[in-house]
Amino acid sequence: MNHLEKRLDRQRAYFDSGATRPLPRREAALRRLLQALEQSEGDLLAALERDLGKHPFEGYETEVGLVRQHLRYTLSHLRRWAGPKLAAVSPLHFPAGAFIRPEPRGLVLIIAPWNYPVQLCLIPLIDAIAAGNCAVLKPSEGAPATAQALCRLLRLALPEGWVSCIPGGVETTQALLAERFDYIFFTGGQRVGKIVMRAAAEHLTPVTLELGGKSPCIVAPSADIPLAARRILWGKLLNAGQTCVAPDYLLVHRSVKEALVAELRRQLALLCPDFAHNGDYPRLASARAFDRLAGLLIGRTPLVGGGVCREELKIEPTVVEAEPGDPLLREELFGPLLPLVTFDRLGDAIRLVRAGEKPLALYLFTRSAGTVRRVCEQLSFGGGCVNDTVVQMAGNALPFGGVGASGMGRYHGPHGFLAMSHQKPVVLRGSLDLPVRYPPYGEKLDLL
Ligand code: NAD
Repeated sequence: MNHLEKRLDRQRAYFDSGATRPLPRREAALRRLLQALEQSEGDLLAALERDLGKHPFEGYETEVGLVRQHLRYTLSHLRRWAGPKLAAVSPLHFPAGAFIRPEPRGLVLIIAPWNYPVQLCLIPLIDAIAAGNCAVLKPSEGAPATAQALCRLLRLALPEGWVSCIPGGVETTQALLAERFDYIFFTGGQRVGKIVMRAAAEHLTPVTLELGGKSPCIVAPSADIPLAARRILWGKLLNAGQTCVAPDYLLVHRSVKEALVAELRRQLALLCPDFAHNGDYPRLASARAFDRLAGLLIGRTPLVGGGVCREELKIEPTVVEAEPGDPLLREELFGPLLPLVTFDRLGDAIRLVRAGEKPLALYLFTRSAGTVRRVCEQLSFGGGCVNDTVVQMAGNALPFGGVGASGMGRYHGPHGFLAMSHQKPVVLRGSLDLPVRYPPYGEKLDLL
């Protein structure tokens, strides 16, 4: 038995011991995690700055703060979620009662990407613990300082049998995927999502896949243009556009195109002066990511931005004109580029979105309720927002997840707890019996 197998065996034994099941123990574990998070806040924010050039404000706003909020929310709702719930029974079962009892799935594998390495590790982990599971966390090799900081934090808070943190690259993930888990929660790209799903199929392990894709942003004629420009730019400035729900391309009505471009230019100068040496603006993840994105700009005349600095691995938020069929409209950009497609009728914009895979997010800037209704009726997307970008994923009120190629399953609020548990229905029967159910059946069909 190799080192990994031994480690997982110990975790399975820990789960089988029942130590993670009692509600007070889960609550205590989550409280320890909250305490450790508070103690490690500086460590995590520094690691995010080292790995990704994230300003500590952004690190708190989009990572540590969200985790803290989710922990508090989970602690205050866990009793309600975790208890058995009475359920109605079919008259066929009379006399009977029933309840649904959430039970932990067992040993959960959480695989995270590098772009929001704190929240995408810890939010599913909180859900796993809340539901009474043991978990293996595989943070991304793309944010190595953060992966180490997460391992330190978890060692402070929880026994290794309960949660183990296994940093490492592709081989580590592949070795983990060869093992049997009771649930896999994967966040990352579509290519690796397929690898994860294939590996899970070997063991019939259920999965959540939080994937990416191309998220459109439609700007309709009635949009508040200064507001649209500011909020679109914000969605692209966050983590330099390396956000799964960042607006990936713009669909802009011809009547407002010039005004929007002018406003984007004006506001970019205010929000991100001197992009290359701006501590508020994160860098790209790697030279490879820089070269891929800078390469996509070659031969194009930017409408907005266009600055590149390889030394700092930064590209200015850049808007370029695109036509349907443009290579910029094929793959998820995952960076600060924003192709702009002009449309004349809303139906054309809707057709263009429908021609691609179902997006993780969709944004619409408009003041027309009819436009909101039409877009929401005719387009399928993981989640979206009218008159803003990205914010639909914050807070606990809404489920978060993709649809079609942008993912399966959902979490946030109570949804992560539900994903990490099996809802086990149990019928409690009385002894009164209706003989009709038992053979011989004879002519009993006529009685129904
Ligand atoms: P990725 O898919 O390359 O990597 C994610 C994880 O998979 C990492 O831990 C990595 O070690 C592992 N991995 C990579 N290659 C592997 C292989 N061949 N076999 C097994 N495991 C492998 O994703 P990334 O580059 O870290 O992140 C960017 C992608 O993640 C984007 O597509 C983005 O849209 C998506 N994403 C989605 C969400 C969401 O919530 N839906 C959030 C953030 C990022």
